[in-house]
Amino acid sequence: MDHTSRSSTASANATRMVDVLVPVALDQTYSYKVPRGMELKAGDLVGVPLGPREVLAVVWAENANPDPRLHNRLKEVSEKLDLQPLKPELRSVVDWVANYTLSPRGMVLRMCLRMGENLGPERVRPGVRLIGDPPRRLTPARQRVIAVLSDRLLHGKSEAAKEAGVSAGVIDGLVDEGTLTVEPMPPPPPPPAPDPDFGRPDFTPLQRTAVDTMRALAANGTFHVALLDGVTGSGKTEVYFEAVAEAIRRGRQSLILMPEIALTGQFLDRFAQRFGVRPIEWHSELTPRTRARNWAAISEGSAPVVVGARSALFLPYANLGLIVVDEEHDQAYKQDEGVHYHARDMAVVRAHIAKIPIVLASATPSVESEVNARKNRYQRIALPSRFGGQHMPHIEAIDMRREPPARGRFISPRLAGEIRTAIERREQALLFLNRRGYAPLTLCRACGHRFACTICDAWLVDHRFRQRLVCHHCGFSMPRPHVCPNCSAEESLVAVGPGVERLQEEAAALFPEARTMVLSSDLITSIETMRSELAEIAEGRVDIIIGTQLVAKGHNFPRLNLVGVVDADLGLSNGDPRAAERTWQLLNQVIGRAGREQGRGVGYLQTHQPDHPVMKALIACDREAFYDSEIDLRERTLYPPFGRLASLIISAGDRPSAEGFGRRLVALAPRDERVVVLGPAEAPLAVIKGRYRFRILVKSARGFDLSDYLRNWLAVCPKPKGNQKLEVDVDPQSFL
Ligand code: ADP
Ligand code: ZN
Repeated sequence: MDHTSRSSTASANATRMVDVLVPVALDQTYSYKVPRGMELKAGDLVGVPLGPREVLAVVWAENANPDPRLHNRLKEVSEKLDLQPLKPELRSVVDWVANYTLSPRGMVLRMCLRMGENLGPERVRPGVRLIGDPPRRLTPARQRVIAVLSDRLLHGKSEAAKEAGVSAGVIDGLVDEGTLTVEPMPPPPPPPAPDPDFGRPDFTPLQRTAVDTMRALAANGTFHVALLDGVTGSGKTEVYFEAVAEAIRRGRQSLILMPEIALTGQFLDRFAQRFGVRPIEWHSELTPRTRARNWAAISEGSAPVVVGARSALFLPYANLGLIVVDEEHDQAYKQDEGVHYHARDMAVVRAHIAKIPIVLASATPSVESEVNARKNRYQRIALPSRFGGQHMPHIEAIDMRREPPARGRFISPRLAGEIRTAIERREQALLFLNRRGYAPLTLCRACGHRFACTICDAWLVDHRFRQRLVCHHCGFSMPRPHVCPNCSAEESLVAVGPGVERLQEEAAALFPEARTMVLSSDLITSIETMRSELAEIAEGRVDIIIGTQLVAKGHNFPRLNLVGVVDADLGLSNGDPRAAERTWQLLNQVIGRAGREQGRGVGYLQTHQPDHPVMKALIACDREAFYDSEIDLRERTLYPPFGRLASLIISAGDRPSAEGFGRRLVALAPRDERVVVLGPAEAPLAVIKGRYRFRILVKSARGFDLSDYLRNWLAVCPKPKGNQKLEVDVDPQSFL
């Protein structure tokens, strides 16, 4: 053995080292040696050995300086992957988001690297071509194949089999006979690029000012936040498409964020009408193959426009030049598991770091964005009226104390009358109720027994379509029994309160001729069925739509002029500091579906509190009144955006353990006169999946670094033990 050369390599201080970040739930980076001949820069994607496994990682620092005592133990980077490096901009976003949300950096990095498992080369698809004579044994199946391939061109093998209605074996047989030959199919051509001048609409004078601002914004290419604040149907989408068009002209990528992927069906078509092709999509339902392809296109810069759910924010855009956040007020932008982040807020952060413009669009801006616009931190671009002279819907309250429906019914006589008129006019009606299933509670008429989930603090919801009682928190379900498990009475169960399925029953009884359709997230088996159901409604093949909040957003139903909100008070009293704001937004959105194309839209609010500020503002169509009163309230109580909030959510397998851990945390909270620590209090959803939950609410002044405070606090706290769990939620949106 040559001892001299061995020791010389070990001590060579020429050995380069890098720090890499691994996309797992770890915050720290790890040092690795760089093998001779490998050139590595910060941002490069590499494979490294970690424990027994080989993992993907990203070089976070080029010239690492680990403790010299560790040098001999360091392993080598195994390979440098042939992928675009992560740009400094995105690495800063990862660091920033991790720091702000108190998440391990590796967890945030993981969101950037969801490129699908197998990033190998595209699988080559086999093609077949007719080259020889027909075989001697010519079955009808074989004849059909030959007919399909008679043009002697290359056809995809599986397509040819499908077209001829035969199995792949028939084709293989013909190949063996020498009639056909197998050749690799050429890769599919890249999709054509969106054309910024394909279908540009003529804008109204009111829209034109907004359009000019949009174009200038995209052209300037510096950090700038615009709040595109326009009533439903004012043309916000058409207007922000002009910013996208400008970005395309300048060769920069655009990201359009949407709160729900279900929304994107109609949207993709509209995009294609404007730009000639559909954009690249990004959401959780993509197949691994499409995911890999889209990820590659995005990182290589060959995807000019990406439309995606919140996770699209973390993709490694080669050349991002514009972000649009559509329906910016939507709660779905908040992720409440893993990294607790708000995609709208983090989009503003990314735009700031990348020095690019961002457009936040909404008919009902979040109070946060409204305040930023009022203080001129965001530029407001207003579209106060509907396109094409359509009026905003007229809104009326139906006071349920004075005009109640019959017992066991939920549609008041007045609303029923209006629906009848709408159907007679061949228009559509939408009944909105934000409750899935048939009834939120089932009880036994004989003994009063209420059906609750055995492992959650929640009633079981009756789902008639599925014939089961279901827990909405853990998914537990059971068949609806015929005998009460408590008193053994037979057929004694009664449904209490309405869900959309029960409303459909009532609507069908009231209007037997009408075609009804229920739209609710639990009834949707795939995005495709969702998209085709929405298309059916848009084509007017449904008379009465009965839906949860799924129908509230973004859709354009040309024949819909009447919206009935079955229980307008539903979201008002749930203890959420944003309850009024959410109700205001949701009801505006859902009533905004009415009267978008012809006729006058009307919205009816069935309410027990017609004098509530939210109902009054809705009826008077007084946007400013709502925001004035809500902003004033937030300012007085120091709720966001005038103060900051964070939640610590503690859970454990038993109540004392959860509560005890919560108490210890609170006892260790650093004293600071700018911070108030409230709790631990039992969470409104006190038990989920057998886990007992407590919440601590931390309130601070606006300019205070709450993340830093929490970090210092948790550093001196004991770690959760056993099955205790602690989640940190900075800027919480949910308080359940
Ligand atoms: P919003 O996003 O504000 O609800 P949309 O952008 O969906 O509004 O516009 C509402 C409807 O009006 C859509 O059908 C849209 O195509 C149409 N529209 C808006 N502006 C124009 C325009 N300038 N020319 C033609 N159609 C328009
Ligand atoms: Zn449950």
